[in-house]
Amino acid sequence: MLNKIEHLGIAVKDLAASEKIFADLLGVQPYKREEVASEHVITSFFQCGESKIELLQATHADSAIARFLEKNKEGIHHIAFDVTDIYVEIERLKGLGYVMIHEQPKDGADNKIIAFLHPKSTNSVLVELCQEKQVNG
Ligand code: ZN
Repeated sequence: MLNKIEHLGIAVKDLAASEKIFADLLGVQPYKREEVASEHVITSFFQCGESKIELLQATHADSAIARFLEKNKEGIHHIAFDVTDIYVEIERLKGLGYVMIHEQPKDGADNKIIAFLHPKSTNSVLVELCQEKQVNG
């Protein structure tokens, strides 16, 4: 079950400049910055009601964010849904014919396990499933 929009991921070139914009917009400061080394990104998170804004800046030319910004302007990169059981959702969506980028969940930022769907099966919208990591494993 997809519970809510957990966050919107926004690709940015200059994290500090974008943090200022979103701090002005939302009236709060980012609550965390976190590097995800495996994805070659540094992230910054803002709370907005029940949802979040995730700013993503590439740390390496091989990053998906760097490649996105070669083809697109800065802006919305992905939409992330909070799920109760990511393993169940991956199997459910695969069963419906959707293509996963990650068939097994991987560690994401902000204490989540995540899996992306391939945008070729989702109207070109990059969709992330994310589930809060359990405290005991
Ligand atoms: Zn995300």
